[in-house]
Amino acid sequence: MKTEPLTSAELTDLIHGLNRLARNLWWTWNQEAQEIFQKLSARAWQNLYHNAVAVLHEVSDYELRTRLQDPAFAADVRDVLKRFNAYMEEGDTWAAQNAQKLEGKPVAYFSAEFGLHETLPIAAGGLGILAGDHAKSASDLGLPFVGISLFYRQGYFMQTINEENWQTEYYSRLNPRNLPMEAVLDAKGEQLTCMIQIATSQVKFKVWKVNVGRIPIYLMDTDLPENEEHHRELTLRVYGGDSTTRIMQEMLLGVGGVRLMRALDIQPSVFHMNEGHAAFLTLELMREKMATGHTLEDASKATTKECIFTTHTPVEAGHDRFTSDLVQYAAHKFANNLKISHQEFMDMGRVRKGDESEPFCMTVLALKHSRTANGVSELHGEISRQMWQDLYADKKVEEVPIGHITNGIHVEGWMKGPLRRFFRSRLGEHWDTDLNTHAFWSRMEDPDFVSDEEIWALRSLLRRELIEFSRRRLLLQSQSLKRENFITFDHLLNPDVLTIGFARRFATYKRAPLVFQQFEQIVKLVKDKKHPIQFIFAGKAHPRDDEGKRFIQHIIHLSKHTELHGHLVFIENYDIHVARQMVSGCDIWLNNPRRPLEASGTSGQKTSAHGCLNMSILDGWWREAFDGSNGFAIGPDSQPDSIEEQDRVDSENLYKVLTQEVIPGFYNRDSTGIPRQWIQKIRRSMSTITPEYSTWRMVQDYANKYYLTGE
Ligand SMILES: *Cc1c(COP(=O)(O)O)cnc(C)c1O
Repeated sequence: MKTEPLTSAELTDLIHGLNRLARNLWWTWNQEAQEIFQKLSARAWQNLYHNAVAVLHEVSDYELRTRLQDPAFAADVRDVLKRFNAYMEEGDTWAAQNAQKLEGKPVAYFSAEFGLHETLPIAAGGLGILAGDHAKSASDLGLPFVGISLFYRQGYFMQTINEENWQTEYYSRLNPRNLPMEAVLDAKGEQLTCMIQIATSQVKFKVWKVNVGRIPIYLMDTDLPENEEHHRELTLRVYGGDSTTRIMQEMLLGVGGVRLMRALDIQPSVFHMNEGHAAFLTLELMREKMATGHTLEDASKATTKECIFTTHTPVEAGHDRFTSDLVQYAAHKFANNLKISHQEFMDMGRVRKGDESEPFCMTVLALKHSRTANGVSELHGEISRQMWQDLYADKKVEEVPIGHITNGIHVEGWMKGPLRRFFRSRLGEHWDTDLNTHAFWSRMEDPDFVSDEEIWALRSLLRRELIEFSRRRLLLQSQSLKRENFITFDHLLNPDVLTIGFARRFATYKRAPLVFQQFEQIVKLVKDKKHPIQFIFAGKAHPRDDEGKRFIQHIIHLSKHTELHGHLVFIENYDIHVARQMVSGCDIWLNNPRRPLEASGTSGQKTSAHGCLNMSILDGWWREAFDGSNGFAIGPDSQPDSIEEQDRVDSENLYKVLTQEVIPGFYNRDSTGIPRQWIQKIRRSMSTITPEYSTWRMVQDYANKYYLTGE
């Protein structure tokens, strides 16, 4: 069939559309959109780590125009742009029906990190990933919403492992021109800048905007020549520097963020503090009110009505605390503005008023100035009420005003390509809107809808893809150590074997090496001729956490120099891309935190749609999700008092579940080689977990319970 060549105007339209598409992270959760950039240059797509903006820079204008004369490619581009535009203009959203109250008065969501995509590494872990997924679902739901954070020029560190198997960190400079972000301009078309006072200096910042579907995320950046050198470096690294850097970063986030909202003429009805890092915003809101004549008391009351706060960890070190001297140095101007003494200022961040030995705690500041607060799972809500009861002297522990909303993930964003194709082929055109419903996922329990054979074929494909990904990564890792002999890694891991994954931050309470405590027995399981198992590990330790680094060293040592070699690998530089490979390809997702320290955990929620099963301590989200049929529980819904006892009991229980339930379940095959009962668990896991532990559900909960319930 002959088709007419595209006119110059049509070409210009498509090219304009592609540029707009690349600069909106909508493409990160839309497979066909990603495929457009992949088709443009498969090699650039891979080498530039799936960066649509950079791929467009790689392809010349001439080539792009020429390629678009391929009618099939042009049709694909048109189709994706049509869907993108329809998404951006959709009027009939959940929020249009359910959250009109927020129209023109958005939720302002402050977070020190946002994990949106592997090319924009401005998150350190689960907290940031959650913020990114929250934003994506806010967009899908049509919620009036803006995100506020910092643009860290060097992002979060990249991890390599040296000859001693010790983690080393390195940083590279991000280039905004090659990233899906744009400079924010003022009315005159010049770079918008704002100022805040830190210590005795005026610090100026500029602003970047990241488009996440329908919503903007604003990133503040102090790297301006007008600033003193140490202020330019405030936004260098995620949680970089010492506590002086930290308090200054947090002033920028909280105070700068409010200033930015005013400069952009955005009038939020709710200020949502995602973790205590952003709590200084409450001081700026009070200062504003006092500047228009209100008393401190009135200003404080009015501010409290505008703010809500989510706490994310029961780990003490996870709550920022600053000494009196540091607070005096960095924020004394605030005490002046609020017309209070330094001691009164300190009291805003103290549980016990007037106790000079108590440092200033950001969580306390946030709790004192929010109309409602929440933890991120039922158990975490309970633990948080105990933890902060002293702040509410007149209340019994069950009356402490901290509730909970259990975390979730953005389902479509975490799906791997083959999985999307799998559902698309069975559900047809509107599958992506059905994707968030219980009805959709319930159908996975119906063997007439999908057969065991189809599910097992999908599982085998995803496992193979993970193993090939791991081998490629291991090869690259060995080359970085400049080994002399070229070795292939095809002998590592076996695509037919039960694959157990563990990947998360190497915070010590997560106890990465726990499964290897019974080393001899694990070696036996790994080497079993008929029913072997294998392990894939990944994760970063905080640069100053030597204990976490020792865990990494231990696991890599086991993988190289013991009988586990070939059956255990450690993939370096854990990030969103590695996470996606692992949560999709593994058969079992292992989580063994020291209960109750895992506030929620979200990586296990990413697995269920892919047919990977959770095997976890009953902590955080899993304590609510586990129903006896949809995965595996390690131990009971309680924990012993002593840490030593807990480690011992948990490691025993882990081994018991592994040998009595998991391994026999996986290898119990019928005459055609299919593990029918295992697949039954996969069906249960898909139908009970995926629609419930999603940010689609979670953001609606936030809206209904908190965003919409203000005066
Ligand atoms: C999901 C995710 C996390 C959080 O995992 P947890 O199970 O909550 O510890 C951390 N880092 C990355 C890159 C992730 O994708």
